[in-house]
Amino acid sequence: MNIHEYQAKAVLKEFGVPVSRGVAVFKAEDAEAAARDLGGPLWVVKSQIHAGGRGKGKFKEPAAGDKGGVRLAESLEEVALNARQMLGHTLVTLQTGAAGKQVNRLYIEEGSDIAAEFYLSALVDRVTSRVAFVVSTEGGMNIEDVAHKTPEKIKTFSVDPATGIMPHHGRTVAKALGLSGDLAKQAEKLVVSLYTAFVAKDMAMLEINPLIVTKQGDLRCLDAKVSFDPNALFRHPDIAGLRDETEEDAKEIEASKHDLSYIALDGAIGCMVNGAGLAMATMDIIKLYGMEPANFLDVGGGASKEKVTAAFKIITADPNVKGILVNIFGGIMRCDVIAEGVIAAVKEVGLKVPLVVRLEGTNVDLGKTIIRESGLNVIPADDLDDAAQKIVKAVKEAV
Ligand code: GDP
Ligand code: MG
Repeated sequence: MNIHEYQAKAVLKEFGVPVSRGVAVFKAEDAEAAARDLGGPLWVVKSQIHAGGRGKGKFKEPAAGDKGGVRLAESLEEVALNARQMLGHTLVTLQTGAAGKQVNRLYIEEGSDIAAEFYLSALVDRVTSRVAFVVSTEGGMNIEDVAHKTPEKIKTFSVDPATGIMPHHGRTVAKALGLSGDLAKQAEKLVVSLYTAFVAKDMAMLEINPLIVTKQGDLRCLDAKVSFDPNALFRHPDIAGLRDETEEDAKEIEASKHDLSYIALDGAIGCMVNGAGLAMATMDIIKLYGMEPANFLDVGGGASKEKVTAAFKIITADPNVKGILVNIFGGIMRCDVIAEGVIAAVKEVGLKVPLVVRLEGTNVDLGKTIIRESGLNVIPADDLDDAAQKIVKAVKEAV
């Protein structure tokens, strides 16, 4: 689960991480008062969307002006003007895709005088099964580009969970960033605070880009991007409360309510499959026959009729879906339950696109009978290959 920058900074601040003072603003008319409270003489008006690259982003609407999604302001009037320009408008960055994201929240911060910009992140490294740090002197840039062009400028190390974070980790960071004296001490303290926050809150990723040295000689996190392990959210109601559903795909939110593993994709063929492996294979074979899947969907092992109905409704509600492929191998899952769920959903929401159903396994005959006797216009298929060819053909004929 992702959260906004201002929320991430509030979480990190609890652990003693140095961040700028700031106020989140939802309405343009509140921006000036927020800026006045902060003082001055410099402010930063920051678009809050769940995507990076905001500074170099561009707004779609001319009314938002031609500056990016992170703007410096030197007067209260400038803060207010930028707030009016940005709120409610659509910001396109390298990470949002072409559609962009509407800016519904701003973060007004006291501006910092930057002397140096660094990169620092922490993530769960599956190879070492540890929390790993990535540090670089090349801050404020796209880290993938740095990794590609100048990999020697990136230092990584991981923390042994048996010892936890140690002073030598902090010294490694300070050395990698070329810091000495008091700044090195600040870096050591920062690394401990970040690691403690990461573990305590079950973060999946924490990226500070840029981490800066101010002209006053302080280390400060100027940006913060944090995501959390969704499987651990039950332990953190405070974090779960930070969820901003307007930033997420509505279909994915609905799917998560029914405990379905669903990911929206760009193609035209909606897939309902049981088992992640079979779902992947189904997506692959759709591509093999020349079309693209509209989603990944694993209804799980022991799905109920209600769950299948919910899944089917999510698929049919997607306007991009021009055909549906139900591909079930009934092991624990029973084919008759799938058939009943599909029929219940079709009765409720109707069926406007071709539907191919391939059933195999437990209670397959009963499942097929239920579908045949439903009178629905379902195209039956015998195996995965047959099913994929049939749905691709049906969709191409329908358009
Ligand atoms: P991102 O573009 O989404 O990564 O957003 P950031 O929070 O990283 O801001 C983009 C850039 O704006 C930073 O890399 C800085 O160069 C600049 N910036 C952000 N805050 C300040 C500030 O307080 N003072 C100054 N001078 N520049 C800032
Ligand atoms: Mg940044």
